[in-house]
Amino acid sequence: MAFQEKYLITPRYLSKPSKRRSGQLITAGVKFIVAHDTGNPKSTADGNVRYYENSRDQKSASAHLFVDDKTIVECIPALTAPPEKAWHVLYNVDTDNLLYGHNANDAAIGVEYCFGDNIDPDEAYRKYIWVMAYICHRFQLDPAKSVVGHFFLDPTRKTDPVTGLAQSRRTYDQLLRDVATEYAACGGDPLVAPQVDADRSGTARVTTRLNIRKGAPRRTADLVQAVAAGTVLNYIDWVDDGEPVNGNARWYRDANGNFFWSGGVSTG
Ligand SMILES: [Zn+2]
Repeated sequence: MAFQEKYLITPRYLSKPSKRRSGQLITAGVKFIVAHDTGNPKSTADGNVRYYENSRDQKSASAHLFVDDKTIVECIPALTAPPEKAWHVLYNVDTDNLLYGHNANDAAIGVEYCFGDNIDPDEAYRKYIWVMAYICHRFQLDPAKSVVGHFFLDPTRKTDPVTGLAQSRRTYDQLLRDVATEYAACGGDPLVAPQVDADRSGTARVTTRLNIRKGAPRRTADLVQAVAAGTVLNYIDWVDDGEPVNGNARWYRDANGNFFWSGGVSTG
C-alpha cells in the first residue's frame, strides 16, 4: 500500500560545500531520526533556512528538515535527494552509538520543530509527526523505536524537542506514540516482529551502566543493583509491556523476578 503523502516537502538546499552542508552522503544508511526544536520561538521554517544559508560558512551546525504550520523545508537532502549528513548532535556524546550503533550525524535525519505564538502549534505538530512517519516509511525504520529526542542523546546541554512541544501542550512520550500512530494511519507497512524462540532464557551483555529493578519492569521500582557496562546478565523471560524507555518497552526478567531494560544490553 502506498504511503499517504499528505504534505509537500520543499527542497531548498544550502550551498555546498560549506560548513553547514558538506555534501557527504549518509553511506551507512539512515538508521534513526533525531527530533529537535529550533530553540528560537517565532522563527519559521523559511526563516531558519535563510539564516542557515546566510551563515553557512560561519557555523557547522545543521539539520535536514524544518517544519512549521505552513511548510516542510528540506535544506540538507534527506527525502528529496540521496540523504546527506547534517551536523545536529555532538559527535562526542555516545548515547546515539549505544542505542543505535551509529553516530547521529552519520546515520540519522534531523528534524526541527518550529514554534512560537505566530505559528499554529497543532498544524505544525501534524506536519512534524507526519514527516517523521514518512522518513520511517522511506527508510524502513520501525516508527516505535527509531525516533529519539535531542535531549535524550545530550541531556546535559539540550532540552529539545521537549521545550518546543510544550508550547503545543504535548510531551515527548506523546510524540513517540503519535509518530507510530501516524505511520499506521498513513498506510505504513507493519513491521513484523521477529518470531521468538520457545525458550525465552538467555544472556545479555550490559552496554551502558544499567539499573536492575525489583519485581517490576519500570524505572520507579526499587533499585536492586546498578551494574557496569560489560557485565553479563542471565534472564529467564521478558515482557514487552514494561515501561517504555525511548519507545522500547521490552524488559528482561532474571531468575530472582527482577527486571532490566533491554535497551541497555546486547543479546545473542
Ligand atoms: Zn537539537
